[in-house]
Amino acid sequence: MKNIATFSICIALFGFGCSTKNEQTTSTPHVVATTGMLYDAVINIAKDKVTAEAIMGPGVDPHLYKATQGDLSKFNKADLVVYNGILLEGKMSEILAKLGRQKLVVAAAESIPKHMLKSAIGYKDAYDPHVWFDINRWKYAVKSISKSLVSLDSTNQAFYQKNTTEYLLQLDSLEEYVIQRLKEIPKDQRILVTAHDAFVYFGDAYNIQVEALQGISTVADFGLKDIAQITDLIIDNNIKAIFVETSVSEKSINAVVTGCRERGHDIRIGGYLYSDAMGEFGTEEGTYIGMFKKNIETIVEALK
Ligand code: ZN
Repeated sequence: MKNIATFSICIALFGFGCSTKNEQTTSTPHVVATTGMLYDAVINIAKDKVTAEAIMGPGVDPHLYKATQGDLSKFNKADLVVYNGILLEGKMSEILAKLGRQKLVVAAAESIPKHMLKSAIGYKDAYDPHVWFDINRWKYAVKSISKSLVSLDSTNQAFYQKNTTEYLLQLDSLEEYVIQRLKEIPKDQRILVTAHDAFVYFGDAYNIQVEALQGISTVADFGLKDIAQITDLIIDNNIKAIFVETSVSEKSINAVVTGCRERGHDIRIGGYLYSDAMGEFGTEEGTYIGMFKKNIETIVEALK
């Protein structure tokens, strides 16, 4: 009855409904992330306390991606922008720098201590941006996202910190799974051949030799010399399978398969690996943990 009475007074005074204290102070913050991996970390920490979206979906190559008009309006509407940094989003650097002067913008992977970064082969004074394939390094990025969410919305600090702790524990379990599964591959078969060099941190963290036709960016093309070198390596080490990436053209890997077969070595495509983009949102491979597990299953099944 009391509520009805209050409501009636509001109508009488203002001609429409009252706004309560809560309505005056809260509107859900909006977060825009560049890659799916970053978006997934945001969602795991903030859950329904923010709305979030990713600029780049499945199969999109971040090295080559240019922001569209639609992306620019998403960036403009965002309260927080999260990107990888370390020049992963090479064609969006200027836009991201400009946004950083207007709103909260965080390069999550740049929170990783410099001494833990690998230099980018072929690029002067640059680091390899593919940090998400070492779970331990990726945890720095997750913690950085957590801090930026707290800066954005300190009223939910305890909620964000609790979820971060839980998510980091899930990442520890994932790492345990990865280490156990990789033991199924014989030591002399632990060589991962892919189209572009997205797995340097993966190799470093989990003790696998990684070889790629293209460098760390897909911007550089591959040449015949690279194909000959990789073909030699495959034949010398009797490697059974090489891998295609969901965000990179198959052309280069197919050239290696042809090269090996011409020399009498039967090689097969071990399957698709998620490298710079995850699977469809809403599926297991559309999450960081699901994508990582799927890659491990594909690698182990093909090389063991
Ligand atoms: Zn890449």
